[in-house]
Amino acid sequence: MNKTEIIELFREKALRVTPQRIAVFTYLLENRIHADAEEVYKDVKKENPSFSKTTVYNALGALCESGLVIPVTLDAGRVRYDAHTQFHGHFKCECCERIFDFDIDALDYSGLEGFSITNKDVYFSGLCAGCKKITKQ
Ligand SMILES: [Zn+2]
Ligand SMILES: [Zn+2]
Repeated sequence: MNKTEIIELFREKALRVTPQRIAVFTYLLENRIHADAEEVYKDVKKENPSFSKTTVYNALGALCESGLVIPVTLDAGRVRYDAHTQFHGHFKCECCERIFDFDIDALDYSGLEGFSITNKDVYFSGLCAGCKKITKQ
């Protein structure tokens, strides 16, 4: 997604366009690492030294409110951010603590008849392939 497309997307969501919001959104699109606010700030600041922590945190908040970014709360007290909002699962490695995305083809569930669902999360945890290899040796 280029800058023009991002600005277009912001307009569609009635989100005011600011340099911070563009930088944060671009960063999250390009870095699928589910960074938390501190990591986003640290990395975005490298290219934009004038950005303050408050404006970056506010940009994250505004992006979440608009639905362009989803908060991922796998760990208590630590919110990570994901700009890939199409439905997918998250796998957390208990060893390296990285979060991996995985695709879900079909989600079968029952028992929520008459409920209104606003959010769906699928979280798996265990050892990622890389860590599994190391622990085996
Ligand atoms: Zn791992
Ligand atoms: Zn994800």
